[in-house]
Amino acid sequence: MTSARPPGRVWAHVGQPFTPGTDPQAPYDVLILGAGRMGSALALTLTEHAPHLKTLLVEEGGLPNEDGATILAPGIWTTAHLPESQHGAARWTLERLRDLLGDDLQPRPYLTLHDQPAPNTQPTRDLLGAHPQSLALLDPEALPHARAHEAHTYRPGTLAQVAAQSAIRRGTDLLLNTSATPHPGGRVTLERLTVTNTHQVVTHDIHTIHAPLIVLATGAHAPAQAEHHLGVHTRHARAYRQTPHLAAPSTEAAPVLHARGLTLRPQHGAYTLIPPIHHRDPHGYAPQGGHLTGVPTGLRRETLEDLVGLMDALPPLATSDLHLGRSLADIPGAWLALPGGQPDATPTHQRLDDHTHLLLGGPHADTLGLWTADELARNIAGEVGRR
Ligand code: ADP
Repeated sequence: MTSARPPGRVWAHVGQPFTPGTDPQAPYDVLILGAGRMGSALALTLTEHAPHLKTLLVEEGGLPNEDGATILAPGIWTTAHLPESQHGAARWTLERLRDLLGDDLQPRPYLTLHDQPAPNTQPTRDLLGAHPQSLALLDPEALPHARAHEAHTYRPGTLAQVAAQSAIRRGTDLLLNTSATPHPGGRVTLERLTVTNTHQVVTHDIHTIHAPLIVLATGAHAPAQAEHHLGVHTRHARAYRQTPHLAAPSTEAAPVLHARGLTLRPQHGAYTLIPPIHHRDPHGYAPQGGHLTGVPTGLRRETLEDLVGLMDALPPLATSDLHLGRSLADIPGAWLALPGGQPDATPTHQRLDDHTHLLLGGPHADTLGLWTADELARNIAGEVGRR
């Protein structure tokens, strides 16, 4: 399907006056708030399923935003942790990732490591025979059983960028460095932001626009925005996930390892650790660094506890290879949406009111995000067709 539309416009900074179309009150059919991978994917899939709709994608930061969940997501496609019923959607997502990312999507072995024998497991020593560096990371007596799964790795930030750029080529407009606030009745206020040389964020100018359809794709912020600005309470929640660095050497071909909820993702010649999410972080919670033997760390207490519990099975975690940091800012971390408030929930979308949809990625967005965005785009195309 191709669109006859000319490419969309991009307003990157406040020096470019925001002049959206001929009708200043309602220049767009759809406003997508948030250009992480979910919002960007929706923008692209809308150009495919409903090419006649004029869409504006609004993002508070840049593309991708360095504070968003997308840029710190593991970027691992795998069905290892999904029920069979989700595998079709995951396979569809994989094909789409191939189209969009080409060689940036790399096949990689993915091993789940177990204390006890489980279906389809083999001895860990056998499965890691070809990867001595990986075998050196663990105690094969503590994790003697392993199972290989199919996996592919990629950079979610690149996906967001590629999807948004493709959408723009097909007619979507993009407004960066703009904080959007939804209101009932299809009204959105847009505050265009600048950052001063003393790092203060200043509102440059404010626009109010209307659209028949608004999609909140603002990641972990979306449930609170729905509640505060639209008065719609949802069951969704959020959790803060830190992804510390382990300075153990890894190669391009090294497998992803997963043991007792912790994922070790080979990256940049070392490892990024992706700890499990146990539960939602309560409203008002602000992440704080913890202490290890009295010394302040940038790793928060919950994450430290998880890693300490794994030190016997993964001895490098007990060495200085694990980057503990001194304060929270030293450890990469991001707020993640938890659809339905569940730590293992799959991406979802939901209608909030007559004008507004919610689109959430969360912990499984690497494997299922594109499918969910596409499903919402198909729904919107059908809905608009019926109007
Ligand atoms: P997801 O995986 O759902 O795409 P992200 O956190 O990566 O999650 O993406 C959400 C995006 O929404 C981020 O890039 C963030 O900067 C943006 N965002 C959050 N709140 C607002 C807002 N009020 N206005 C515009 N963009 C926002």
